[in-house]
Amino acid sequence: MTGGALAPYAARAAASLGRRFAEPPAAPRSEFQRDRDRIVHCTAFRRLEYKTQVFVNHEGDLFRTRLTHSIEVAQIARSIARRLALDEDLIEAISLAHDLGHTPFGHAGQDALSACMAPWGGFEHNLQSLRVVDELEQRYGAFDGLNLCFETREGILKHCSPANARALGELGRRFLEHRQPSLEAQLANLADEIAYDHHDVDDGLRSGLLSLDELESVDLFADHARAVRARFADLAPRRLVHEVLRRMISERIEDLLAQTRTGLAAVAPTDIDAVRLAPPLAAFSDAMLARVRPLKQLLHSRLYRHARVVAVMDEARAVVRELFGRLLAEPTLLPDEHRIRNNAIGPRAVSDYIAGMTDRFAIREYLRISGDGPAAAALLASPLAAGALAARPVSAG
Ligand code: MG
Repeated sequence: MTGGALAPYAARAAASLGRRFAEPPAAPRSEFQRDRDRIVHCTAFRRLEYKTQVFVNHEGDLFRTRLTHSIEVAQIARSIARRLALDEDLIEAISLAHDLGHTPFGHAGQDALSACMAPWGGFEHNLQSLRVVDELEQRYGAFDGLNLCFETREGILKHCSPANARALGELGRRFLEHRQPSLEAQLANLADEIAYDHHDVDDGLRSGLLSLDELESVDLFADHARAVRARFADLAPRRLVHEVLRRMISERIEDLLAQTRTGLAAVAPTDIDAVRLAPPLAAFSDAMLARVRPLKQLLHSRLYRHARVVAVMDEARAVVRELFGRLLAEPTLLPDEHRIRNNAIGPRAVSDYIAGMTDRFAIREYLRISGDGPAAAALLASPLAAGALAARPVSAG
């Protein structure tokens, strides 16, 4: 909670469904505030700084990483929560933790690890985020993980297969019974989408892979560009882009607020349990979804599937596949802590180890493992390795 009184349908820290291991109260902090603080201090959060969003981490200092992405999500989510009198600490905690389980190299890394783990229950970055906060962080004397509140864990777990849901017990039950999470969780998920749509436009332009001309073919962008040019004549391109993007973000947020308020007015949930039983209440309007579609299509065709991005990501997939195969075949290559934590040295231990790697640590680990054979030589000649080895030394910690 921050600021004024909470809406009846907000999550309430004092009425939390609790932590897996009972702890004395966090007062004067709220329980959700304590969760947020634990997330900011954990190791996986710091590693987000060196994990790919769209561009591999070392391709440039100005591109978003998972860390800056997560902070932007939290900023947008808090703004939305405040307007709806929801719990800002909870939505911030969910936003900051939502990508903790991401592999190195963004979706390419996730795809590769998921294919490697297919025979052993698969790998899914969202479920891995929960695994990080529930089990993998080793910081506290009394428990593994961060021992977060149910509401924070519920918000981190955005989707889940029926088999995984059954294995998760109470937390997984909503996926089997088709119930919703809190409004804070629903809105953090949409704040994620608002954040990446816009920062990917910015990074795409900065990289030179997207052009202003291409963006002007999208009404959502062109409408705001026209307004900005009418207000400021002869604005330098970087300022123009920022002025346009901030207006686009505001339009998305205002639409989300209006549509969500309409849903809330129709259902009139009296508490968080009513939110969980209602259909999804946080939503963009259909008009907004249609207006954003051409922007997403442009980002897909010109940025995410750009030959330069795809070439780097193909290399990244090969690195993850090779790491997995070698570490599974020769588990003594794993650091002691990963062998001990998982009791048996199995595929899940290898998967956890790889998922925790930063981009450049994965590249160094690959080179360490493959020695000076042809695989290492091929990687060194690839665009993926270009900047990683010039970066300052890194360790697994
Ligand atoms: Mg995200």
